[in-house]
Amino acid sequence: MLADMRHAGVVPALEAIGLPRRLERLSVLASNLWWTWHPETWELFKLIDSTLWTDTYHNPVRFLRQVRRKALNAAVHNRRVLELYDRTVTAFDAYMNPAQTWYASAHPDRLDHLIAYFSTEFGLHESFPTYAGGLGILSGDHAKEASDLGLPFVGIGFLYNQGYFSQRITEDGWQEAGYRRYSFEDVPVIPFQKEDGQPLLVSVELAGRVLHARVWRIQVGRVPLILLDSDVEQNAPSDRDLTARVYGGDLDTRISQEVVLGIGGVRALRALNIEPKVWHMNEGHSAFMALERLREKIVAGATFAEAEARVQAATVFTTHTPVPAGNEEFPDWLIDRYFSQYWGQLGLDRERFIDLARHSQPWGQTFSMSMLAIRMAHLRNGVSELHGRVSRRMWHFMFPDQPVERVPIGSITNGVHTGTWLARRMKNLYDRYLGHNWMEALDDPATWQAIYAVPDEELWAVRRHLKRKLVAFARERARAEWQTAKRHPIQILAGGTLLDPYMLTIGFARRFATYKRGSLVLRDPDRLMRLVNAVERPVQIIFAGKAHPMDEPGKLIIQEVYRTLKRAEFGGRIVFLEDYDINLARFLVQGVDVWLNTPRRPLEASGTSGMKAALNGVLNWSVLDGWWQEAYHGENGWAIGDETEYADPDEQDQRDAESLYDTLENQIVPLYYANGGPDGPGGWLRRVKTSIATLAPTFSTRRMVKQYVETMYLNRAPEVAAG
Ligand SMILES: *Cc1c(COP(=O)(O)O)cnc(C)c1O
Repeated sequence: MLADMRHAGVVPALEAIGLPRRLERLSVLASNLWWTWHPETWELFKLIDSTLWTDTYHNPVRFLRQVRRKALNAAVHNRRVLELYDRTVTAFDAYMNPAQTWYASAHPDRLDHLIAYFSTEFGLHESFPTYAGGLGILSGDHAKEASDLGLPFVGIGFLYNQGYFSQRITEDGWQEAGYRRYSFEDVPVIPFQKEDGQPLLVSVELAGRVLHARVWRIQVGRVPLILLDSDVEQNAPSDRDLTARVYGGDLDTRISQEVVLGIGGVRALRALNIEPKVWHMNEGHSAFMALERLREKIVAGATFAEAEARVQAATVFTTHTPVPAGNEEFPDWLIDRYFSQYWGQLGLDRERFIDLARHSQPWGQTFSMSMLAIRMAHLRNGVSELHGRVSRRMWHFMFPDQPVERVPIGSITNGVHTGTWLARRMKNLYDRYLGHNWMEALDDPATWQAIYAVPDEELWAVRRHLKRKLVAFARERARAEWQTAKRHPIQILAGGTLLDPYMLTIGFARRFATYKRGSLVLRDPDRLMRLVNAVERPVQIIFAGKAHPMDEPGKLIIQEVYRTLKRAEFGGRIVFLEDYDINLARFLVQGVDVWLNTPRRPLEASGTSGMKAALNGVLNWSVLDGWWQEAYHGENGWAIGDETEYADPDEQDQRDAESLYDTLENQIVPLYYANGGPDGPGGWLRRVKTSIATLAPTFSTRRMVKQYVETMYLNRAPEVAAG
């Protein structure tokens, strides 16, 4: 079955659009997300009709469904289009039919060792709304890298028809959430069908009723993702919306979604005759998958203990956050409602069932998805060294016979997918100086030593180009807002109309959750104002990010930021760009000079946006938390504060803010504005090169996915760092 999925087919929405013969394989390119990490393909669509490419939000399926005959006819006679087309199609075919892959050469005896990777979100591209934020980007990057490395791999998730919300900020700084419905005709998905041509459905029992879900496929290079969607006519109207939104709704919605993902996901794989050897629970949301696999074995005659041992031996679990809200817990009454029909099939009574994940909290008892996952997996990891240590402390109570350093949770630090996040101009520079096959060895630190040979003026020219692009993007968006005349001038100003492409520019873009302290840099507005407005050496700061729609404290932080930046004294040098998504993230991590991160230690499990920034020659400036704690070594960016954790959060904030202003004033600003000749600031660019050389090879999914293969998927334990 999986072999059939490999074929480079065309999605149904594009089957009958009638492209000119000379360009007919555009529909093949549009049907596989391979193009999302091959920017030459974007160039191709842009050359055919650049306005439409923008209007469809960089969506090739929508683009091809809407493109006018005239544009296509012109394209057929355009030499640049044809050249680019031929080159792209050749590259795609070569990718899909490789002579060899890393996995096949490293593990020729394990080619059938199929990995099923379950995740609530996959962040693949801005035009495909199956993600909310960091967890989704990580899953999407993981899938792309699994494809690059040639892993036997299938992802399981949801096909949301609304996705996450789009963000608007009112004149007073309040976040408003908007939703729009996507048509599946506009995304490259293929529904699975039964032999009789009817859509393939799987069903799960939900609190006394049956819910059906349709099964779709989307192709990410060489790997398929199987996506579930409840919007089918067999379901009651309210159930049809169950899979509309990422993390939407109340507890009932969430547990229902997780039953569909975990139990429905296993049933979908079974219906497709896909037989995974490894089941990867990416975060606890999918942990119900273990129950369904237990049930299968028990129904087939195994005892509970036998079934549990076999399920554990084939299951791995990655935990992604020490923040309680990220560790899903359900009250017992909800478990009764959804599982009272189910636990009997496992041969368990209520108490023994709840024991599988019983979390006794000071305020009562809950059913913890993370505990279920930890219990049902034989290998477990956190997503940075520090997060591994924090997780061992956090879950020590589950392993009371072990000293804390022996708690069996290791760590594999996150990475980013290089092809997805690297600016095209930067890639051209690397192609010239790192050797044209550098991507094949991008996780080898030796590959990156050649960065020191790049002439300063060339690196500086690319960096300046990327900053101009970011500023032009922000201004153009603000201009369009101005034209519609529906917005207050202050919102236009906040949108970046006065940004200057030659100024030192700091970026802060992330989810607005309280522990990320989005307003820390504003703690002393007067001191900040002096720095921002320094006549010879000004500074500008760009904010972006969403708060979860139910997170009132998070929305208040956005409002605090917004109210501060509205003050006339800041004169448009502090801005907030609305609706942070993959598109805006690309502009920011490629275009700013400095990437700021201010989490309250140790609550940031890893973070990945700083890795994207480093890859593009942007310098990180962060609290020593998450990945930065192991990445920073003095010359490749800056630290905020030291590793001291103060008991009083206000004292922590005060100390970190002082460190932040001191570093900005005494180190960052002087270094940036020193000898700013045509070659750019030498000291700055030296630091940039050190940052690229030390961070790009390590904090990539190339290193990360290989580590998952070697230490988790092939059944060896990940390393447990001491402590
Ligand atoms: C990379 C990325 C994230 C995650 O980055 P963090 O460093 O964890 O904040 C979130 N959202 C988008 C759109 C991203 O591109």
